[in-house]
Amino acid sequence: MAEESRRLFVALWPGPALADRLHDLAGEAHRDCGGRRMRRETLHLTLAFIGAVPADRLPELLALLGQLRAPRFQVQLNSLGYWPHNHIVWAGCAEPPPALLQLAADIRRQTAAIGLPASGPAFVPHMTLLRKATATCTPPVAEPVVWDVVEWVLVESCLTPHGADYHRVAGWALD
Ligand code: ATP
Ligand code: MG
Repeated sequence: MAEESRRLFVALWPGPALADRLHDLAGEAHRDCGGRRMRRETLHLTLAFIGAVPADRLPELLALLGQLRAPRFQVQLNSLGYWPHNHIVWAGCAEPPPALLQLAADIRRQTAAIGLPASGPAFVPHMTLLRKATATCTPPVAEPVVWDVVEWVLVESCLTPHGADYHRVAGWALD
């Protein structure tokens, strides 16, 4: 039988109040761009998509990630963008804080070092708001969403016929 594996990624996850604000922002974007809004409880910012991890390597991955230390930072989601290759509309920041870029780089370096590299192109911090958007011209953000980030999380993605379900596996506080 094939070895059991878990589909894992590392992310920043907004709390309920912030998710409400982001869901509203998705609503504003939706008026111009169409498509399907992400569900409120699924909104997140991926730092590293690791993908299939053999279940028996999870303790090693948790121990590795738990050793990382990083400072708190603030993310100002102040712009919207559209990517033609996957038809998503996302919220991003004009100037990503260096601590955010450093955290993502550290996570990626560490997981690669144990043979679990992140997949995908270079890291561009973004939060997907809409999928299958039909218009490519995103509106300006009337009021930036300010996010004081205090922790980061390891999440399991369970693919279902209705889309991905996400389950928090572990979380670590920023200093
Ligand atoms: P679905 O695949 O059902 O549309 P999803 O993309 O949200 O849903 P996953 O594919 O499990 O679910 O991805 C989890 C997170 O990791 C998402 O934020 C997704 O954008 C990101 N991600 C997935 N694959 C990659 C990849 N190859 N490179 C970078 N990020 C990825
Ligand atoms: Mg996907």
